[in-house]
Amino acid sequence: MLELTCHCQNIQMVLPDKPLRLSECDCSMCRRYAAFWGLYAPDQITLSYHFAPQGYAAGKDRVFYHCMRCGCLTHFESSETAPEQLFAVNYRMANVSQWPSLIKSADVSFRHSLSQLSTREDIGDIRV
Ligand SMILES: [Zn+2]
Repeated sequence: MLELTCHCQNIQMVLPDKPLRLSECDCSMCRRYAAFWGLYAPDQITLSYHFAPQGYAAGKDRVFYHCMRCGCLTHFESSETAPEQLFAVNYRMANVSQWPSLIKSADVSFRHSLSQLSTREDIGDIRV
């Protein structure tokens, strides 16, 4: 299990070492966020915080959350009506010692060619 936090440690996420999938998405939101997603089933993640994360609904399928204090984008969750229920953890919340093991679990081809990224299928076509 891994524990990832935002910079100020207000938001904590406990998750299994291996995600269902990894995605570096080029949709209109993720491109701006520069997020690197570990995708999980919602029941695999334990989310805790002192101050509730701020949500932003992009399109009808996903809500992106960031910390109210430090501003870090920590995760997104599928809306109830989304075709697939996902909890996506922004692996960029990892600290330096955690990062190598996270990347080791990745399908390396995801990280080297935009054309090989499982982008639109993983994240959906989010319109804002
Ligand atoms: Zn924070």
